[in-house]
Amino acid sequence: MIETHKKIIQDLRQITGNKNLLTKQWNKQTYSKGWRYGSGEALAVASPGSLLEIWKLLEVCVLNDVIVLMQAANTGLTGGSTPYGNDYDRPIVIINTMRIKDIHLIDHGKQIIGLAGSTLFDLEKKLLPLGREPHSVIGSTSIGASIIGGICNNSGGSLIQRGPAYSEMALYAKVNENGRLELINDLGIHLGKTPEEILENLQLKNYKTSDVINTKKRASDDGYIDILRNINSNTPSRFNSDPRLLYGASGSAGKIAVFAVRLDSYEKPKKNKIFYLGSNEADVFWQIRRDILSSFKSLPTSGDYLHRDCYDAAKKYSKDTFIVLDKLGTNFLPT
Ligand SMILES: Cc1cc2nc3c(=O)[nH]c(=O)nc-3n(C[C@H](O)[C@H](O)[C@H](O)COP(=O)(O)OP(=O)(O)OC[C@H]3O[C@@H](n4cnc5c(N)ncnc54)[C@H](O)[C@@H]3O)c2cc1C
Repeated sequence: MIETHKKIIQDLRQITGNKNLLTKQWNKQTYSKGWRYGSGEALAVASPGSLLEIWKLLEVCVLNDVIVLMQAANTGLTGGSTPYGNDYDRPIVIINTMRIKDIHLIDHGKQIIGLAGSTLFDLEKKLLPLGREPHSVIGSTSIGASIIGGICNNSGGSLIQRGPAYSEMALYAKVNENGRLELINDLGIHLGKTPEEILENLQLKNYKTSDVINTKKRASDDGYIDILRNINSNTPSRFNSDPRLLYGASGSAGKIAVFAVRLDSYEKPKKNKIFYLGSNEADVFWQIRRDILSSFKSLPTSGDYLHRDCYDAAKKYSKDTFIVLDKLGTNFLPT
């Protein structure tokens, strides 16, 4: 290993401690290979234990011109959660945020602050006693996914009423036009002046209700349903890098480092009913979709599709997963 790389690893290790900096090939595998695709070499995988540690890791990386790859649960399907190939011009450090799991409730749980590695599961559990639920619940995203990974990917397009994950309020770091690391506090909470102060105050929940600003900034996508209703539009309802959904952390897909987001939660429906429809004709679904979207007074919470091959496979395989989730619930799963 070349000397400069050794020095970088040393500096990173001083921040995270030995245990939380992986450099051995075998140990890095889980983090450098994507769920569906994407894999490549990383100099190191760092698992910081606090927001301030993330900031310090970023400082070392920016100073040494190292590529930073922010990662949460690594369930994303875009190839953006891991290195992609081995032809990068600089070394890569993966910063995995999953040790930083805190969630703060504000305004009696109507909004939440999710720190870097907080998960949708934990949020679901936290909101349940308040009769509320997060943007995505199990079934609308994959098991173990983080809150912030969803925001960065604008994930959740099958959620008809709620739309893709979106917020205009976040705390994040970016490299500015002068090549300097800069912390942007768009969270709408007075947390202090310096990055260190801001990050520590947030981590320790060291702010008062009066520090939380009531802003007009949106903490969810409130326009999706109208777009879906417009069935004769000549543009698709949802597509990658839709400028409508790019704002700060939202849709940033790893281009900045997100420390926290502020999001709306949703009133939990009193009753749910699931309808399964089957047909051999794709046109039947096309017609049903158009009829529902154009003429139903209230729209379904979400709508998803299952290809015949998946249906056939599910008839035979994976019943164990279904039974485990059905009988034991999701509480015991690692989040
Ligand atoms: C089997 C399966 C089913 C799925 N089903 C759905 C589905 O139904 N609907 C849906 O929307 N998605 C689905 N997904 C995709 C995936 O679960 C979501 O995209 C998820 O929200 C990603 O969360 P994550 O914590 O795994 O993020 P990651 O995969 O770790 O990261 C996602 C992106 O966010 C960036 N990122 C993560 N954390 C930060 C940070 N702190 N700062 C800056 N950038 C960051 C990463 O660089 C990456 O670009 C599915 C995935 C799988 C494997």
